[in-house]
Amino acid sequence: MTKMNWTPLRNAIGEAAHIVLLPHIYADGDALGSSGALALFLQAQGKQVTIAVEEAVQDKLSFLCTKAGIQFTLPETETPRADLAIAVDVSDYARLGSRKTLFDRAKVKARIDHHGVSGDFAPITVCNPDWAATAEGIYEFLNEIGANWTVPMAICLYTGLVTDTGCFAYSNVRPETMKAGAAMLEIAGDLSWIYRETFENKTKSCIALTAVAYAKTEYEAGGRIAYLQLEAQDYDSAGATDEDSEGFSAMLRAIQGVHVSIFVRDGKNPGQYRISLRSDEASDVSKVAAEFGGGGHARAAGITFVSDKEETFTQFKNRLITRLKEGMNV
Ligand code: 5GP
Ligand code: MN
Repeated sequence: MTKMNWTPLRNAIGEAAHIVLLPHIYADGDALGSSGALALFLQAQGKQVTIAVEEAVQDKLSFLCTKAGIQFTLPETETPRADLAIAVDVSDYARLGSRKTLFDRAKVKARIDHHGVSGDFAPITVCNPDWAATAEGIYEFLNEIGANWTVPMAICLYTGLVTDTGCFAYSNVRPETMKAGAAMLEIAGDLSWIYRETFENKTKSCIALTAVAYAKTEYEAGGRIAYLQLEAQDYDSAGATDEDSEGFSAMLRAIQGVHVSIFVRDGKNPGQYRISLRSDEASDVSKVAAEFGGGGHARAAGITFVSDKEETFTQFKNRLITRLKEGMNV
């Protein structure tokens, strides 16, 4: 087991009065839950903490605000120059989005992360791909530092663990992940409601969009690859939002015979596409994603593609599918 060196981060925290935490763009349960648990600890140390997010928090994660008391600040709010900025669950500088300036302006820059394929952009980096979730790293750090665990901290941390492991089901789960989860249950008691909030509790628009998604799913490589592209009109027809399609990549990988799933959505700007990849042991999609300018984990990775004169989306798609087929060992 890799033991991480937390000392530089610990020292940086000791010297900072105002700390800004920066979860990745399109923040998920791990990015927000890890930031929340860390923020509560830092606040208990008398630090002034801002969690600056790129987009409004997804409805299904709003319990982090209502039940754990976490405040997330949107970019339009003026945030003073921080003594310390910590990128949380951010694999790559680009995934700070418009908050790069907040990060750059801070006196000291740090990063806590668990992505295998990642860009080194912070002078203080604690990154361990063995952690199933960044939350597992936060657990290690807070334990090492001797934090007093509270129920709101446990809610945040457990959210990170549950969401990044598919409810402790994925291959990234290790004994340490379960131990961190068990410790949170010791503190907070029954946390099954977090599973219901994040994985069940689907909106009617999500169900409508799921029907569209299954109808539009195509198969490549003799059924070993599932491909789905959803456009704005698909979301509109189901009255759905981006949040409604969050679990779709994993949903496609669950189809019998499918080893790799590709899920494509429109990006924030015209000509921009967000590609989610999921796989089983047949393929390391983080390697493939990295070749296409993206990153992530062996079984869950992503790419942001911008079409231009050099390459259309269709050309990119064909190149990606060909590459995934080549790299598959089934
Ligand atoms: P998701 O498919 O859930 O959006 O992302 C799966 C994993 O891939 C996440 O760990 C995320 O950090 C990574 N990922 C997704 N999109 C991108 C991207 O555009 N660039 C990079 N570097 N990583 C990405
Ligand atoms: Mn994560």
